[in-house]
Amino acid sequence: MTSRPATSASSSTNPTPGRATKGTLGTPLSPYATRVLLLGSGELGKEVAIELQRLGAEVVAVDRYDHAPAMQVAHRSHVVDMLDAAALRAVLGAERPDVVIPEIEAIATHVLAEVESADVRVVPTARATQLTMDREGIRRLAAEELGLPTSPYRFVDTLDDLRAAVGELGLPCVVKPVMSSSGKGQSVLRTPDDVERAWAYAQTGGRATASEGAGVRVIVEGFVDFDYEITLLTVRSRGADGETGTVFCPPVGHVQVDGDYRESWQPAPMSAAALDAARAVAGAVTQALGGWGLFGVELFVVGDDVLFSEVSPRPHDTGLVTLASQDVSEFGLHARAVLGLPVAAPSPVGGPGQEAAASCAVLADGSGVPVFDGVDAALAVPTAQVRLFGKPRVDGRRRVAVTLARGGDVEQARARARASAAALRVDLA
Ligand code: AMP
Repeated sequence: MTSRPATSASSSTNPTPGRATKGTLGTPLSPYATRVLLLGSGELGKEVAIELQRLGAEVVAVDRYDHAPAMQVAHRSHVVDMLDAAALRAVLGAERPDVVIPEIEAIATHVLAEVESADVRVVPTARATQLTMDREGIRRLAAEELGLPTSPYRFVDTLDDLRAAVGELGLPCVVKPVMSSSGKGQSVLRTPDDVERAWAYAQTGGRATASEGAGVRVIVEGFVDFDYEITLLTVRSRGADGETGTVFCPPVGHVQVDGDYRESWQPAPMSAAALDAARAVAGAVTQALGGWGLFGVELFVVGDDVLFSEVSPRPHDTGLVTLASQDVSEFGLHARAVLGLPVAAPSPVGGPGQEAAASCAVLADGSGVPVFDGVDAALAVPTAQVRLFGKPRVDGRRRVAVTLARGGDVEQARARARASAAALRVDLA
């Protein structure tokens, strides 16, 4: 573990030159570094790390396993169980970061509140990280405190209570562990016979452990027969006037299979009224969470009505499309915002015939080290780009790469991204 070098920084005109104070950034690997600690080092964190490096930040990546994607582009890394408060404190104490970016939800979030009170910037805030670490905190904030429209819902801890909740909400409905992501433990119930299976699946699929005499807590949601769903990437940043400003990226449309993202595109066509409603919901939720950074606000759209579903206080997987669609990607916007820099609405990069962009996830299923074949064919698709995440190995079904493409409309962009993904073959060696 490397500790921060002893510094005579206080002799500078800036008392804390490494800090991401207004408009000041340091030099990495020097006493004047602006040091950023990434808690979670997956493929989204890797893109954030690259953008931070471009701004000269010193990037330290942390995850539970070695050679995680973001570690491969960071200055240093640590392998730590981030749910272990003592281990997390040890890394924070040794690295003494200026900014801490939680990139995953499975973190001992009370430790983040401790460092925040010691004047470290936690992105977006320690409280927001706590509220969004499970589905309950954020759902209650959005629906009960802010009064935003959501699906009807109940939280239950036992199979009997699940039966009762399904009786109240009606079928179909959706069951999800309160702590889970990528569709793990999530299922749709269509008949009363599905209740036990959904309960059992939710008990195995999430991150939380059961409390005594009860199971893993789950949320039961009424099924929303939405017309389409979007992610509204929303950035809160310090404006030139010192006040926090909010900008929105054009809406990202997406397709999910079993609760996991498979394709996304931008801009998602939607009515002006629905877009206004989406911005109002996203603005309210992100303002309530506070802090600076990019948020992925997930919304269901029915006609001109918008329902809040979830929010990630960090770049969103469906926002990978912004690597091909915007002059500054969601990762670049996040990096700027978390460093206390102003963020303007991004511009689309596609010229005539390239007004839309799309991404397609590439999954591997099995065990082993990914080896990609057909990368040449994937890149032969017009406008195609690929990102191979560099995940050191796969056990189960994991996303290992994404393809990106542009086109004259959403359908053409999606067809190209899908064709590029289909050309990639992933062997697990
Ligand atoms: P989540 O993990 O909550 O983001 O859910 C993943 C995906 O499952 C969503 O993007 C939707 O496609 C689908 N989904 C989740 N909740 C509902 C719901 N209440 N009604 C219909 N579809 C849902």
